[in-house]
Amino acid sequence: MTNPNQHIIPRDQHSVSREFISENALKVLYRLHKSGYQAYLVGGGVRDILLGLRPKDFDIATDATPEEIKKLFRNCRIIGRRFRLAHILYGRDIIEVATFRAHCDDNIEQRGDGMIVRDNVYGTVEEDAIRRDFTVNALYYNIADFSIHDYCGGLADLEKRQLKMIGDPIERYKEDPVRMLRAVRLGCKLGLTIEDNTAKPINEMAHLLEGIPAARLWEEYKKMFLSGRGQRTFNQLKSFGLLQYLFPQTSKEINEDDDFAEFVTLALENTDRRISEDKSINPAFLLAVMLWKPLMDRTERLVSKGMHFNDAFYKNFNPTINQQSQTVSIMKRHGAVMQDIWALQIRLKFNYGKRVWSVLDHPRFRAGYDFLVLRSEIDPSLKPLADWWTEFQEAGREQRIKMIAKGKSLGQKRNPRKRKSRTSNS
Ligand code: ATP
Ligand code: MG
Repeated sequence: MTNPNQHIIPRDQHSVSREFISENALKVLYRLHKSGYQAYLVGGGVRDILLGLRPKDFDIATDATPEEIKKLFRNCRIIGRRFRLAHILYGRDIIEVATFRAHCDDNIEQRGDGMIVRDNVYGTVEEDAIRRDFTVNALYYNIADFSIHDYCGGLADLEKRQLKMIGDPIERYKEDPVRMLRAVRLGCKLGLTIEDNTAKPINEMAHLLEGIPAARLWEEYKKMFLSGRGQRTFNQLKSFGLLQYLFPQTSKEINEDDDFAEFVTLALENTDRRISEDKSINPAFLLAVMLWKPLMDRTERLVSKGMHFNDAFYKNFNPTINQQSQTVSIMKRHGAVMQDIWALQIRLKFNYGKRVWSVLDHPRFRAGYDFLVLRSEIDPSLKPLADWWTEFQEAGREQRIKMIAKGKSLGQKRNPRKRKSRTSNS
């Protein structure tokens, strides 16, 4: 099948230079080419270079089959079920090499609702281009002559700064609903406008995300929220009606509670800022924020039935996380960090007595403290406690001892049980 829009742009008419491509990606491209195969850099790698950005990773497309690729590279691992791909490993750097695939109706395995479950049908480079999602993602940099192949009008769309689905957006979302998330994510990340026909069906089709495995949505979660454009992406997900299918509990609560919405916004802003400053970020922190109000609501429900606050609070950690995991799966180790952060909200209330030292030594102290500071920004009654911990960390040992000896709790009334015993003694 030849695409009438086929367009080959020679090296002297585009800005993709080898100096922007990683050494490992070049190695793979050259080895494939020298072994007689076609080899192209494709997807985000080409797109980002053309936009003047540094690509996050480099994807390669070739006419060599996964088995043929494996024969060429000792450090090669074949992965994937729906798409079989070759991963070439250079230490921690992974170069993904995909064999050209055709988007051919007769050979794709689709479910009754149109979702693609398997499409390992090999094709030509033109066929490979039209089964990709957006036109700007279907640009191919040919290592043979350094030209760019543009079969879907991606260059013109880059110029217009628009993200446009290849083919009929409705059909393409049915085939793979995650493309709706990719539209929002890439639009935000690259500062591209989602073209009208690409944007229009999203609201009505958002519910198709219900059919996507929670593990795949976790991968998308990380890309959406941990790449520096989390806040913008979150707002867009909300306005496209997608958020409720990713974070149903959070989505409901932010609609009902402005303070909580503000809390989530602050956390997203913080995360984006930390990323722009090259600081480390933990994917669990944001989740702990997003599930904080759902956790508190559950807690209050049990308290209203007569359970002690702390018991109700701890008891709801797992149910809150488990419910979220049904849509976006949360791995155990991230769940454990969330629980630590939440539990520290109780422990940080006690700024007197010996336990202050053990709180300070807690491996998640910093995350728990950051969480408290964030809470204090929407709940002024927590400000004195947050300030106390700020001062405590900055203080020397002598000063710290004095601070603890003052022995007053700023975050809550004194431990009710203690107070009771004191009054009964008096
Ligand atoms: P990023 O900068 O986040 O890596 P990317 O566009 O490179 O963005 P990848 O997930 O690395 O995203 O995918 C590489 C390429 O594979 C895409 O550019 C696109 O051409 C194609 N692709 C990825 N996911 C899909 C999908 N769901 N449907 C169709 N094509 C896809
Ligand atoms: Mg990529």
